[in-house]
Amino acid sequence: MTASSSLTSPPAIGTVLHGVPVVAGVQYAPVIRPGKPPQIDPGADADLDEADRAAEGERFSAAAATVAERLRERAAHATGSASEVLAATATLAQDRGWLGVAEKRIKDGAPAVRAVNAAIEQFVEMFTKLGGLMAERVTDLRDIRNRVVAELKGLPEPGVPVPDEPSILCAEDLAPADTAGLDPTLIVALATTLGGPTSHTAIIARQLGIPCIVAVTGLDDVPAGAMALVDGTLGTITIGPDEAAARDAVAEAQRAAASAANWSGPGATADGHAVAVLANVQDGAAARSASQTPAEGIGLFRTELCFLNTETEPTVDEQATIYTEVLEAFAGKKVVVRTLDAGSDKPLKFAGHPDEANPALGVRGIRISFNNPAILDHQLEGIAKAAERSGNPPWVMAPMIATAEEAKNFADKARSYGLTPGVMIEVPAAALLADRILEHVDFLSIGTNDLAQYTMAADRMSADLATLTDPWQPAVLALVAMTVKAGVAVGKPVGVCGEAAADPVLACVLTGFGVTSLSAAAAAVQGVGAKLAQVTLQQCRDAAEAVLTTSTAADARAAAMSALG
Ligand code: PEP
Ligand code: MG
Repeated sequence: MTASSSLTSPPAIGTVLHGVPVVAGVQYAPVIRPGKPPQIDPGADADLDEADRAAEGERFSAAAATVAERLRERAAHATGSASEVLAATATLAQDRGWLGVAEKRIKDGAPAVRAVNAAIEQFVEMFTKLGGLMAERVTDLRDIRNRVVAELKGLPEPGVPVPDEPSILCAEDLAPADTAGLDPTLIVALATTLGGPTSHTAIIARQLGIPCIVAVTGLDDVPAGAMALVDGTLGTITIGPDEAAARDAVAEAQRAAASAANWSGPGATADGHAVAVLANVQDGAAARSASQTPAEGIGLFRTELCFLNTETEPTVDEQATIYTEVLEAFAGKKVVVRTLDAGSDKPLKFAGHPDEANPALGVRGIRISFNNPAILDHQLEGIAKAAERSGNPPWVMAPMIATAEEAKNFADKARSYGLTPGVMIEVPAAALLADRILEHVDFLSIGTNDLAQYTMAADRMSADLATLTDPWQPAVLALVAMTVKAGVAVGKPVGVCGEAAADPVLACVLTGFGVTSLSAAAAAVQGVGAKLAQVTLQQCRDAAEAVLTTSTAADARAAAMSALG
């Protein structure tokens, strides 16, 4: 994490900076920034005398242990994913891999600060080369380095200061350990220069329920102390806005949040047009927690997330046990199980992924089964077993379908296990031929995260390209509209299960296109349902028509807001 280091002048009063909206809500407060990380000059200190090396090694071990212990303590006082993130960072702080490299360097004469820096950079390079989820841990590694170096130098712990009034935390990026420890009554909104909609910052902001924007251009120039208005729905941060107008905007957003908290389902527009509002889950625990919300079912069960750390293929029975938990949490309700979306940023050890230069365009999702059909067969068998045990037969869908033939092969196989087959529409080719795919399957579910990535040719993990992977991009919306139209024409259900469905305004646009279900993170369910309940189907249709005439994501958003009143 770095504090603002820009030498350019701060933005003028009233400047509106744009980023990618991640968590809705509006807040007006002063900006605070994280403390600077300690300066590290790798060439500054001379090599140690032989006689001093053992003591330096002990000083290093004690510093690393202190940092890990502090993180563990904070994990013990936090809850939910905040606690998990802190515990994971504490474990990384005590990881034998980098500790061993640092110890060896100290034995060879390096002072502890230089040894820590070199060891961490070695692992940063390795993780970066591995890409995907490993690359995302680079921020954690550097955060640990900064904490250990600060401890060695006797400096205060770097990170987020505890403000004495509610504040907006602005940073280049935030280490998970910092975001996990945040108090939402004091840090009332987050904005970062880097990060994408799926970054740690975004995940924790969702859990804390505070407005969040990532990939904000020009944010580094906003000084601590400036008053700012963050709009997590529009993705804007206004510097030094008119105070009365800003306070009105906050009050209005609070009224909307209160109405969301009162929404108890089922999903329908103000004039009674039904749209099922469903939850996205990744295991039994998440399904049980989603069942406490008004979600009418599960629109996306990401099965691959159950097996990210599994070395060998789980048996059919092991799989059936996990799937049964999810089906039982929503007994008698709709559950859509997605077959393994292994590959790209979610490699599974047992899936036999080939070494690929470009894994997002490689053997991912359904493509894993081309050379290894048994994996899909075993999974469908496990799902069929879970259906029998729970008495709740789910729908099943395959990810990354690109052709009608792939859809047909999957549908034939799923039906042979007695399951109701559908496919995800995430590849532009599938959206373009949705009518032909629908000849073979019973339903479609649009994955807007990947559909945006592949339509815009922009890596969804890239912060630099986050404005391109915005689901409001009119090209993405055009493909969504086309897919839904194909479903409406033959009377088959078409849902959306990507992050687009979690945006209450976009959810209304999708309803205007004609989707039959919206599936979002459990935390977003009430906001989506409440917004839908405030607008008529005609307003949704007007919004849908309006976005299709725009040329930019910002214009599409503005056009929809205006049509929805
Ligand atoms: C999507 O791509 O929109 C989707 C829901 O799948 P995932 O985010 O798991 O790739
Ligand atoms: Mg996807």
